[in-house]
Amino acid sequence: MLYLSTRGHPDRKHFCDILLEGLAPDGGLYLPEHYPQVGDQLARLRQVWNTQGYAALAHEILSLYIDDIPADDLRRIAEKTYTAEVFGTEAITPVRPLEAGLWVEGLSNGPTLAFKDMAMQLLGNLFEYELGRRGAELNILGATSGDTGSAAEYAMRGKRGVRVFMLSPHGRMSTFQQAQMFSLLDANIHNIAIEGVFDDCQDIVKAVSNDLAFKQQYRIGTVNSINWARLLAQVIYYFAGYFQVTQQDSESVSFTVPSGNFGNICAGHVARQMGLPIAQLVVATNENDVLDEFFKTGIYRPRSSADTLETSSPSMDISKASNFERFVFDLLGRDAAALKTLFADTLPRQGFFDLSADARFQQARQQFGFVSGKSTHADRLATIRSVWQQFQQEIDTHTADGVKVAREHHDAASPVPMIVLETALAVKFSATIVQALGHEPSRPAQFNGIEQLPRRVQVLPASVQQVQQLIVQTVATPAAAS
Ligand SMILES: *Cc1c(COP(=O)(O)O)cnc(C)c1O
Repeated sequence: MLYLSTRGHPDRKHFCDILLEGLAPDGGLYLPEHYPQVGDQLARLRQVWNTQGYAALAHEILSLYIDDIPADDLRRIAEKTYTAEVFGTEAITPVRPLEAGLWVEGLSNGPTLAFKDMAMQLLGNLFEYELGRRGAELNILGATSGDTGSAAEYAMRGKRGVRVFMLSPHGRMSTFQQAQMFSLLDANIHNIAIEGVFDDCQDIVKAVSNDLAFKQQYRIGTVNSINWARLLAQVIYYFAGYFQVTQQDSESVSFTVPSGNFGNICAGHVARQMGLPIAQLVVATNENDVLDEFFKTGIYRPRSSADTLETSSPSMDISKASNFERFVFDLLGRDAAALKTLFADTLPRQGFFDLSADARFQQARQQFGFVSGKSTHADRLATIRSVWQQFQQEIDTHTADGVKVAREHHDAASPVPMIVLETALAVKFSATIVQALGHEPSRPAQFNGIEQLPRRVQVLPASVQQVQQLIVQTVATPAAAS
């Protein structure tokens, strides 16, 4: 399997090259040349799931996309990653029922209690493997509004050959999230709180990555959701969810996905393109509704930092959806020239693009199964309350956005089950849970007292130079530029 850039760069690359790279050299995102078709292998994959479990299923899916890691090694990496010890249950992503036909798939039982662990734990093991094989080092530079950063740090802590420099918006993460990240004292983990919002952090990461000389000299890599390996890891749990709520491969299901950067639901799109019987992919947004606006109107209009609202589902407080370009590439029939015009010309020039008059936009719904909805703070409170009152289950604020929108798109009489992806546990966002339920969310024992632990974090202004300087100081022996 070879990978291409959405913006038409002529190079084709293998998995392990793009694993360490991030953005393509032309600023595009990597995608496989084609989506492997598994529609006629579902019975076999179901059997693998039923008899051997998540890690074996993961190995099956990964090996369709990775041809430059020997099969035995890849199997070992999958088995080392997806264990009950790390993810809390044998099922790894257990599905549980809510009301008739509506299910919740638990993706948030890993070390940081958010779904980002599903991909990041795999990435940590892939990085260690590949860097070891190359005798190389990597300095991971990332931006986080909360969950990505902690998931990356917990996946990379103590890993050989890897350092993490993680930028987060100063004072904007929940107390629990700050405690989770900043209490990591491992020597290879560097927390940097930026005086700004998430997009300022993301812009710094982009600027540093676009400085090719610096990037090469200091071996800068990324773990942001544009990394194809992360997206690929997320494809697996769409299969695992499907096998848990269906008996036969003739049945289809729908998924509702609390969305921000469009990484999670883009993995659902990939699974659907591979032939997994997904009826609808429901995009759920919060008040930062740039994606809901697109799927309703055909207009993609990223917001400025100033127009990005701080909400009680902060991991979805995104002004532009960085993985969205991947879906638009497929929507445009993989026309890289048209894609490049939209993202590298129209968007920077006029601040939005409008596909409402484009026949291909109408296919977003029919051919690709996408629909959308939005949720507000009041909706979150009401949904958290109703799920607690009806089912004695605590759901987090992001999952609540998903349940709210799923209920609007799900008909109890429909034979098609609706699976909501649980993207975090309630304890990460306790202030809103207390507001909704009047009591603290339950907290897994290993997190007791986390707020009192010593912290390691440096505060910096939103300056590309100062971040570069910090990296230079930390990396004692830079490689000679090649
Ligand atoms: C990252 C995150 C999201 C958004 O996922 P995307 O892949 O960026 O769309 C939703 N909920 C939680 C809890 C998250 O951490």
